[in-house]
Amino acid sequence: MVLHPDSTTLPVAESTVKFAVSDLPRSEAGLVRSVSPQTGVVASSLGINARFASGVGSRSPAVALPARIRRFMVQSGGRDLMPDERVAVCLRRRIPGAAFVSVLYSPAQRAAHFGGLQVCGSVWMCAVCAARISEVRRLELDQAIKAWGGQLVLATFTLQHKASDALVSLLDDLQGAVRKMRSGRAWMAFQERYGMVGSIRALENTDGVNGFHPHQHVLFFVASGIDLEAFTRELRDRWGSSVAKVGRYASPRWGLDVQAADAKIADYVAKFGREPKWTTAHELAKAVSKRGRRDGLTMMELLDAYVVLGDVAAGQRWQEYAITFKGRKQLVWSKGLRALLGLVVEEKSDQEIVEEIVEDAVILAQLDMAAWRVVLANDARGELLEVASSGDAEKVWLFLGSLGIRFQGVEDG
Ligand SMILES: [Zn+2]
Repeated sequence: MVLHPDSTTLPVAESTVKFAVSDLPRSEAGLVRSVSPQTGVVASSLGINARFASGVGSRSPAVALPARIRRFMVQSGGRDLMPDERVAVCLRRRIPGAAFVSVLYSPAQRAAHFGGLQVCGSVWMCAVCAARISEVRRLELDQAIKAWGGQLVLATFTLQHKASDALVSLLDDLQGAVRKMRSGRAWMAFQERYGMVGSIRALENTDGVNGFHPHQHVLFFVASGIDLEAFTRELRDRWGSSVAKVGRYASPRWGLDVQAADAKIADYVAKFGREPKWTTAHELAKAVSKRGRRDGLTMMELLDAYVVLGDVAAGQRWQEYAITFKGRKQLVWSKGLRALLGLVVEEKSDQEIVEEIVEDAVILAQLDMAAWRVVLANDARGELLEVASSGDAEKVWLFLGSLGIRFQGVEDG
């Protein structure tokens, strides 16, 4: 392998030319080819998708972009909307004292990542961090489920709302009602009756025709062979009266959904925290116009609509969501459950997860800040990692070359 030195020279001006997808010819396979004006490298031969024009609203991915590229794109939308939050500098600004931004590759994980950059760890606002955090949390959920010998019940709690409801009051009331439901002697007796050893709560939000729809999933770990009907009836009564205590209403029919089938639970865990399938602009526009469909839009779809379609109203909705959910925990394990199921008792924080050092990582390239700024100006972070996922330093440098980034003193290998 050719060893590349750490330093890069300042790129020449024309290197930062951006291409709009529509400017590029499409091959029969639906792949967009981009030809670097300097190197003549056909980017798609490296598995790179087209460069897209930046600037909110002007992006129109006609082809399905790899999830990682879409995540970085959507993260930039979060930066526009929440410029004072950490998501605005996430994987952009270097860690104080770091001289370079490193492009790293882990052979064990067959995945690439950046080193030397700040990460925000925001599961609500940052598409890039959320993907990583959810992946780790999902593995733990799976482990917990496999370790439990009893039965599992997945319940989803919601309360009635209308389009004019402020999200913050809805969410406070939802969480307040869940707290009330889970407290007191009656709840202890309920737990005992069904051999409940604990639960895992996950907070979610969607946006539909009746406005924001925050909801709380709770996975209950109960004894096998419980009377599910009786369990559901009692839970529904408790939920209804807890919601009434916070001055809201939960319909007996829609306020609580209870599922016991293992397959459904496995399905939920598989989907937990996972971003929706990235859609093309056309499909996304359809989804936005059909906001009334039962599930509503996920928060990632809302942000995606802002970035891809330039839907300003979607951006404002997302902003309200981001401000409201900031600082709330997405996933909460009840006390003692982790130990009972043999998981590491000390739960990692979201920030710890995204800051974890990958032990076996090798350096494919190191960029000085001038070179890194070129990557940023081209919105090429996602693509750079896509290329680096090959583990091939040559490809990484070819890609950087296509952005006009040069390095000094190449050793011929
Ligand atoms: Zn982040």
